Amino acid sequence: MKILLRNLTKRFPDRNKKTQGEITAVNDLTLEIPDGKLVGLLGPSGCGKSTTLNLICGLEKATEGTIFFGDRDVTALEPEHRGVGMVFQNYALYPHLTVRQNIQFPLENLKGKDKLTKEELKRRVDEAAKLVQIDELMERRPGELSGGQQQRVAIARALVKMPHVLLLDEPLSNLDARLRLQTREEIRRIQRETKITTIFVTHDQEEAMSICDLIAVMKDGILQQLGKPQDVYDFPSNLFVAKFLGTPPINVFHGFVKDQTLFIGKNAVLATPGVSDQEVTAGIRPEGLIYRPDGPLSCHMNRIEVMGRDTSITASHPDCENPVIRAITNTDKLPDPGTTTVSFSLKPGKVHLFQAETGERIPFSTNHEVNSYE
Ligand code: ATP
Repeated sequence: MKILLRNLTKRFPDRNKKTQGEITAVNDLTLEIPDGKLVGLLGPSGCGKSTTLNLICGLEKATEGTIFFGDRDVTALEPEHRGVGMVFQNYALYPHLTVRQNIQFPLENLKGKDKLTKEELKRRVDEAAKLVQIDELMERRPGELSGGQQQRVAIARALVKMPHVLLLDEPLSNLDARLRLQTREEIRRIQRETKITTIFVTHDQEEAMSICDLIAVMKDGILQQLGKPQDVYDFPSNLFVAKFLGTPPINVFHGFVKDQTLFIGKNAVLATPGVSDQEVTAGIRPEGLIYRPDGPLSCHMNRIEVMGRDTSITASHPDCENPVIRAITNTDKLPDPGTTTVSFSLKPGKVHLFQAETGERIPFSTNHEVNSYE
């Protein structure tokens, strides 16, 4: 089922005088979610992710705008008639009911033509339990399950009604790191098998990038960018998106472009064909700083950091807003730990330019590497 949000706005009353009595949680959001895809809704705390989900499932009413499921306008439809399955961060299972009773709960009150026979009810519950691989645990109560198992029960309960749309609100937040990894792969598998259009809310960019077909990045209730995870990483539409995606984070330098060349401080560091003279903010991914003794960008050397697979050179520079610059390197040739200065050349595809005032992306052709301007 395709979902279309058109100019969706949600304002809440607020007692705080500074906001003039209103909080705009979702601001003129237009977003098309293709049929059968897993879409990650991503952004910092308070950016409007949960409110967007609540509008889609009908728990909140839109102040302005429309919501379509396929060709059907569902904006005024009650939640129970929207065909949406919802999974929350805290699982919200009934502690006194068994796993089987929890999963079958949404089917028990179906009326009229939707009412199920006993056999049909059992078949649907068994199918949902099998899909999330908890069919061995049906007679236990939630208190006797691990966090990951409880979350599976919550997903099974959302799937048992065979929804057109599945909404997951921070479903992995209560799990430890290892279980998070495992459960996110499970969510991907379940979504692939059921092909239900799914929206997955998280503030964890790595989680969203690893399992989603598309990610939508939000800030202050406003959509910043929608795209395939790798495209959004490679072509962030503004500085906020560039900073939000990527670990370690992008290194942000203040510089200027003169004669189609990027300068950081006095150093000419990269050819920027087609970019007019102006002040810019340059974002350089940690994998875009290449250690080279004759490289054009000189920084103050901090130390070599080895973390699992990655070896990073950490440094600092007066024009960099990150207190610590990180360069991930895959070479054995490393600077001498005792040295005070370290130089880098820049990988053009890993450097992004943004307007200094607005933070909007400045496109430029990235096929001219400049090693040195000595
Ligand atoms: P988090 O990641 O912390 O859950 P979020 O991105 O899901 O955040 P929302 O919960 O959608 O953000 O909240 C968006 C904004 O709307 C916040 O400023 C929040 O305080 C405000 N808000 C949400 N619900 C209400 C409400 N019922 N009344 C007033 N303000 C609200």
